[in-house]
Amino acid sequence: MSYTDEIYERVVAQNPGEPEFHQAVKEVLDSLKVVIDRNEEEYRRLSILERLVEPERIISFRVPWVDDKGNVQVNKGYRVQFNSAIGPYKGGLRFHPSVNQSILKFLGFEQIFKNSLTGLPIGGGKGGSNFDPKGKSDREVMAFCQSFMTELCKYIGADTDVPAGDIGVGGREIGYLFGQYKRIRGQYEGVLTGKGLTFGGSLIRTQATGYGVVYMLNEIMKAHGDSPEGKTVIVTGSGNVAIYAVEKITQLGAKVVAMTDSNGYIYDPNGINLDVVKDIKEVKRGRIKEYADRVEGSVYTEGRGVWNIKCDVYLPCATQNELDLDGAKTLVANGCKYIVEGANMPTTLDATNYAMENGVLFMPGKAANAGGVATSALEMSQNSMRLSWSAEEVDARLHTIMKDIFKKVDEAAKRYDMEDNYVVGANIAGFEKVVDAMKAQGIC
Ligand code: NDP
Repeated sequence: MSYTDEIYERVVAQNPGEPEFHQAVKEVLDSLKVVIDRNEEEYRRLSILERLVEPERIISFRVPWVDDKGNVQVNKGYRVQFNSAIGPYKGGLRFHPSVNQSILKFLGFEQIFKNSLTGLPIGGGKGGSNFDPKGKSDREVMAFCQSFMTELCKYIGADTDVPAGDIGVGGREIGYLFGQYKRIRGQYEGVLTGKGLTFGGSLIRTQATGYGVVYMLNEIMKAHGDSPEGKTVIVTGSGNVAIYAVEKITQLGAKVVAMTDSNGYIYDPNGINLDVVKDIKEVKRGRIKEYADRVEGSVYTEGRGVWNIKCDVYLPCATQNELDLDGAKTLVANGCKYIVEGANMPTTLDATNYAMENGVLFMPGKAANAGGVATSALEMSQNSMRLSWSAEEVDARLHTIMKDIFKKVDEAAKRYDMEDNYVVGANIAGFEKVVDAMKAQGIC
């Protein structure tokens, strides 16, 4: 049996009940086969893969808090510190009822390669809670965040582990978490990224992931003699990543005709009016359905199936495994040419393979959405230097980073004779740097 197959079997056996983690490991190991086969003896001797798939540390803790009725609620809190070979752990916090150890391990594992691809010195981590901020008052969200940080603050720091936002964790939550960290540790330091602009945040961090996804799409298109101008686009989700992907791609001359949330999707043949979406989602914290009540000519459909709308470009920016094989088949049949993942692992393995085998240019999330963590690292740099860069400067750096990532991914795929296979390219390019650092640091 090959080394990669052996490791995959071992992961499944030793991590029962963690399907998302198994899926992420399988995707990475399958595409690393070509590299591993060439170095098998050395990697086996050093147990490189055994170490790579085992988190350095998982912290899990109780998060008790009091709701507005005076009742005590209890949630689970986690931080997965996966790999610190190339820098302090870095990765977001997710607050969503679906959060469990499997989901955080898959996200932490992906984060290792993503962070490596950015070219910046950051290791892989992820954390969160099964707390659902939806429908909670500001005071309840604050009570939860304070309790969560009371425990988490023992394990993080500007030079050890620097969390950021993710699903359910935006500027409001980061503010409450930062306030509590400062109160307990007595240190005003860059321990979290995604902070508000008045207390150490970076300009463009809010926009960075979505903008980065579109910068990546633009690079792929350029390499194939194409451009976003005049293209019809579907963006799934209507959160942070989705909103700023829509903003940037619209600036580049494309038309976004559909967006979603976890209840359903809107179709607007005239092109999504982003001001309305921002008001619904960022100001009122409402449902995407309200768009159809406010914009003439648009339609709301309850449930899944947004891929039935014809598009040239599909940007999944909501959550894991949202695009399945049937969805991919429909997209291909309708002539979709590009899938660029804004979310982490939003496409199932069989859907990814089907799309790629049928001529879709597919860029995985670990490369396409790396602009968020890269700009978080730029926020860390500004915090360390006690400086703030202008929006233009941060955006220019983000743009350069995304171009570099595309180059690395494209070059790695070509080096192994798999031109346009960006899944293989991203995994190889991310893996090589981490393994070099692990080898240099000895058995640890
Ligand atoms: P937000 O919480 O801002 O938005 C998430 C969006 O996805 C919402 O529209 C939400 O709908 C929808 N969604 C969440 N869960 C589901 C579900 N189970 N089914 C259908 N829709 C769902 O999160 P972000 O925009 O920050 O994150 C989106 C994705 O991008 C995640 O995969 C995240 O890991 C990834 N990512 C985020 C980065 C960032 O900088 N924020 C960086 C890199 C990756 P609803 O409101 O109905 O829940």
